[in-house]
Amino acid sequence: MKVLGVLPFARELISNAVQQGDIVIDGTTGNGHDTLYLSNLVGELGHVYGFDIQEAAINKTKQRLTEHNCLSRVTLFQKGHEMVKTVIPEQHQGEIASAIFNLGYLPGGDKEIVTIPETTIMAISDIFSMLKKEGIIVLVVYHGHKEGKKEKDELLHFVSNMDQAKAHVLTYQFLNQKNDPPFIIAIEKR
Ligand code: SAM
Repeated sequence: MKVLGVLPFARELISNAVQQGDIVIDGTTGNGHDTLYLSNLVGELGHVYGFDIQEAAINKTKQRLTEHNCLSRVTLFQKGHEMVKTVIPEQHQGEIASAIFNLGYLPGGDKEIVTIPETTIMAISDIFSMLKKEGIIVLVVYHGHKEGKKEKDELLHFVSNMDQAKAHVLTYQFLNQKNDPPFIIAIEKR
């Protein structure tokens, strides 16, 4: 297949926006796959801020980063991403090159602990205000679970109403796949 799948497309968007030395955010570290990917993109001179509310996710992420010698480039918070403005140092606010969110539940974890629309939208809104020009927020929206449908609807409503003079907003999804496949929402700051 020549068309990129959803996850490779998310990484394509991120890698186009992020350079060595940049400051970036993983809004949902989970098992740490994206956190590690981001830490490799920003390199030794850059920094990643990672958020997850679950101790198990933070531990898994820490372990993965340690195994790859990348832990020093990452600050992990066992806090909700809606706290982003209160914990990221002021000198880095306005300098964020990119943020990624994988919504839904932790793979292999408790399926009852999921991202919810209120806090997801609060985090997106705050991070958007912290993005530098041409910075990008990439959301991978998993909506196969009950709360996921509500989150998808509220998110689409929110991003569809963002001012087009300030943001490019796109979705990327396969329309003919069955079983509610994940899709991407990307928001680039103009
Ligand atoms: N990107 C991860 C990876 O590479 O494994 C997968 C993330 S998983 C789909 C979603 C994660 O969001 C879960 O680990 C869950 O604990 C976390 N989460 C739920 N609500 C959150 C919140 N308000 N702030 C930060 N993380 C949250």
